[in-house]
Amino acid sequence: MEKKNIDWSNLGFGYVQTDKRFVSNYKNGTWDEGTLTSDANVVINECAGVLQYAQTCFEGMKAYTTEDGHIVTFRPDLNAKRMADSAARLEMPVYPEDKFVEAVKQVVAANAAYVPPYGSGATLYVRPYMFGSSSVIGVKPADEYQFRVFTTPVGPYFKGGAKPITIKVSDFDRAAPHGTGHVKAGLNYAMSLHAIVTAHAEGYDENMYLDAATRTKVEETGGANFLFVTKDNKVVTPKSSTILPSITRRSLMYVAEHYLGLEVEEREVHIDELKDFAECGLCGTAAVISPVGKIVDHGKEICFPSGMEEMGPVTKKLYDTLTGIQMGRIEAPEGWICKIC
Ligand SMILES: *Cc1c(COP(=O)(O)O)cnc(C)c1O
Repeated sequence: MEKKNIDWSNLGFGYVQTDKRFVSNYKNGTWDEGTLTSDANVVINECAGVLQYAQTCFEGMKAYTTEDGHIVTFRPDLNAKRMADSAARLEMPVYPEDKFVEAVKQVVAANAAYVPPYGSGATLYVRPYMFGSSSVIGVKPADEYQFRVFTTPVGPYFKGGAKPITIKVSDFDRAAPHGTGHVKAGLNYAMSLHAIVTAHAEGYDENMYLDAATRTKVEETGGANFLFVTKDNKVVTPKSSTILPSITRRSLMYVAEHYLGLEVEEREVHIDELKDFAECGLCGTAAVISPVGKIVDHGKEICFPSGMEEMGPVTKKLYDTLTGIQMGRIEAPEGWICKIC
């Protein structure tokens, strides 16, 4: 298969239309077989549930080329499960988990020409999502839904090395207790846009959200979970029922414990403890880990000993090990790498 003529290492993180996408419709209580299509546009009624009451959820994952030349994705079964949880919380019909994985594989295989070569640092980003497609004016779930998967090639997250970022403790909340913070719903992002635009205007890279009930405990950023490293090399991640369960974070905690022999802890992290940590990172599919150099809490600066020039040593080891597993340079735990072709 001939690769597309794309300058892979200079690609940004934006939408580039690829050849095929998967579409399945839910009607009269069942999902149809689904099919690949060349049509990148969605046509729905002006009163569709997604347009009026934001009934939609999504996933994000990557396909990439391993060292030995195969195209793979990473733990798609966990994305399928998480989307099922999101759909259930939003009163949407669950798209069957095995069919979710099949759809992802079909779309990636159909767009293999857009999967960047090994070593380019670029990947094919995969976006499964679903939405209420039938008209709804009284507040209730839609009767009909559409599940889609499209792909877009994205460039290396870190161009010229991973520089630590500066984040602020936000005065906005991301997720309410017993709300929707634990599911990947578009509505969580819609209401975070004002907070991130404000943070950027003030010169910060990201927001640290606290728990909405007491505003004393660390939750996450708008789209990534936190990892901290203590001065005695313990890896700590915040525990909360309103955090989105990042697959990258869960994988990194496993790697810390089983590959690097580090002690790991998922527990509540109090804002007053931040100054005691040695390293901090943000984890998500896009970057794997972004190092955090500084957190600003209402004018009070917390600077991690790892500094503003490079990743902390434990963060770096975690990053190198997980990316090594993903790229096929280090043996993966059973079931983590899903071979497509
Ligand atoms: C998607 C997402 C993450 C990262 O999850 P991954 O599965 O690692 O990509 C973290 N936080 C939020 C709020 C998210 O939406």
